[in-house]
Amino acid sequence: MDEDLEQLKQRLPLLEYLQRHNWTPCRASSRQEFVGLCPLHQESRPSFYVNVRKNLFYCHGCGRGGDLIRFVELFLHLPFRESVAHLRQQLTPTPSAGILEQTAAFYQLQLHRHPEAVQYLEGRGLRDAALLEELGIGYAPGGNLQRHLNALGYSFDRLVRIGLLNGQGRDAFSRRIIFPCRPHGHIVNLYGRSIGAAFPHRLLPGSKGGLFAWESVRQFSTVILVEGLLDLAVLWQAGFRNTTCAIGTHLTPAQWTQLGEPPRRSVYLVFDQDENQAGQQASRQLARRLQSAGIDAHLVQLPPGHDPNSYFVAGATAADFAACLEQAQCP
Ligand SMILES: [Zn+2]
Repeated sequence: MDEDLEQLKQRLPLLEYLQRHNWTPCRASSRQEFVGLCPLHQESRPSFYVNVRKNLFYCHGCGRGGDLIRFVELFLHLPFRESVAHLRQQLTPTPSAGILEQTAAFYQLQLHRHPEAVQYLEGRGLRDAALLEELGIGYAPGGNLQRHLNALGYSFDRLVRIGLLNGQGRDAFSRRIIFPCRPHGHIVNLYGRSIGAAFPHRLLPGSKGGLFAWESVRQFSTVILVEGLLDLAVLWQAGFRNTTCAIGTHLTPAQWTQLGEPPRRSVYLVFDQDENQAGQQASRQLARRLQSAGIDAHLVQLPPGHDPNSYFVAGATAADFAACLEQAQCP
């Protein structure tokens, strides 16, 4: 039961719950701590503190503090058991999850009908059909989603609201490889990687959710963090199943909480080694922030100009990559 409650609190971080209920921090006193007006008592000056790493709150105004469940007890005036039940309900899929599932399934079928998509993935070193299936990778050719979803009973307006179509009825994803983001089993967003000249990255509006595939990665005490989903895919293919992805170099509060949750883990950052040093700088900064949040962070250097995906495409083996991990430095 206790372990169950721990998992509940990790899956729905306190800050995320507060933000869903329209709490906005006025400022951050540190990278781990956010301050705002107390939702539990009337006040004009912010004295309600949320510590993202500890996943706890404390109000200097009314003197109350605790974890997520304690907050719900106080906020909704519910006894303990009902607070837990309320939180479990908050974790059930959102109304758009059904449409996103249908969309992802549709795009998965499209993948095998469009040789340009399969060729693109092969060019990125991805040949393992079972892995593509496991990650739910699909392809959006563009132009055919609306008819499919309309036939399943989803209205035009609904698809526009979710962002799958724009106001003119054009597909949000066109000529893009699709990765469904499932931090906790159900889909919270779709990521589309352009195979053409369009801007490479695209997510639907709304949260990018937690860390990619966190449900399966969280069991590892050593975690590899990469920037992109193609990086993640080649690493999984090479056997590094402890790889997760934040989709970019910026971590959301929910992702911070996930990395910091027990067991105490080591995080290996493998970001792009681009020529202009921007990637190295981003990873160094993030590594320092992780360190100051008490997370054991390591910086992994790949040969210049490489990201994990291009490194494998250029012929690196799992042993080569393991050697890079061994030579990782502390920030
Ligand atoms: Zn208060």
